Amino acid sequence: MCVRCARITTTPITVSEVHQASGPGFNVYACPDCAPHFPPLPDALDLLATGWRRREGDER
Ligand SMILES: [Zn+2]
Repeated sequence: MCVRCARITTTPITVSEVHQASGPGFNVYACPDCAPHFPPLPDALDLLATGWRRREGDER
Protein backbone atom coordinates (compact mmCIF):
# COMPACT_ATOMS: atom_id res chain seq x y z
CA MET A 1 0.00 0.00 0.00
CA CYS A 2 1.27 3.47 -0.84
CA VAL A 3 2.18 5.50 2.24
CA ARG A 4 1.33 8.79 0.51
CA CYS A 5 -1.97 8.23 -1.27
CA ALA A 6 -2.94 4.99 0.52
CA ARG A 7 -3.73 3.26 -2.75
CA ILE A 8 -2.99 -0.39 -3.27
CA THR A 9 -0.33 -0.75 -5.92
CA THR A 10 0.88 -3.85 -7.67
CA THR A 11 4.33 -2.34 -8.10
CA PRO A 12 5.33 -0.94 -4.70
CA ILE A 13 8.56 1.00 -4.51
CA THR A 14 10.48 1.06 -1.24
CA VAL A 15 11.01 4.69 -0.28
CA SER A 16 12.21 4.15 3.26
CA GLU A 17 13.46 1.36 5.46
CA VAL A 18 12.77 1.72 9.16
CA HIS A 19 14.96 -0.17 11.57
CA GLN A 20 13.96 -0.33 15.20
CA ALA A 21 16.14 -1.63 18.00
CA SER A 22 13.10 -2.56 20.09
CA GLY A 23 11.20 -4.46 17.39
CA PRO A 24 11.13 -5.65 13.83
CA GLY A 25 11.86 -3.06 11.17
CA PHE A 26 9.54 -2.38 8.30
CA ASN A 27 9.64 -0.89 4.84
CA VAL A 28 7.67 2.12 3.67
CA TYR A 29 6.23 1.69 0.19
CA ALA A 30 4.91 4.12 -2.36
CA CYS A 31 3.28 3.66 -5.73
CA PRO A 32 5.23 4.67 -8.86
CA ASP A 33 3.20 7.89 -9.05
CA CYS A 34 4.19 9.02 -5.57
CA ALA A 35 7.73 7.64 -5.35
CA PRO A 36 9.30 10.65 -7.17
CA HIS A 37 7.77 12.95 -4.53
CA PHE A 38 9.83 11.41 -1.79
CA PRO A 39 13.31 12.80 -1.12
CA PRO A 40 16.20 10.55 -2.10
CA LEU A 41 17.33 10.45 1.53
CA PRO A 42 15.45 7.45 2.98
CA ASP A 43 16.30 7.90 6.65
CA ALA A 44 13.73 10.52 7.72
CA LEU A 45 11.77 8.07 9.85
CA ASP A 46 14.98 6.67 11.22
CA LEU A 47 16.02 10.13 12.39
CA LEU A 48 12.58 10.65 13.94
CA ALA A 49 12.90 7.45 15.93
CA THR A 50 16.35 8.50 17.11
CA GLY A 51 14.98 11.88 18.20
CA TRP A 52 12.26 10.23 20.23
CA ARG A 53 14.76 8.04 21.99
CA ARG A 54 16.90 11.09 22.79
CA ARG A 55 13.91 12.99 24.23
CA GLU A 56 13.06 10.13 26.53
CA GLY A 57 16.66 10.15 27.74
CA ASP A 58 16.54 13.90 28.46
CA GLU A 59 13.46 13.58 30.64
CA ARG A 60 15.18 11.19 32.99
ZN1 LIG B 1 0.78 6.79 -4.11
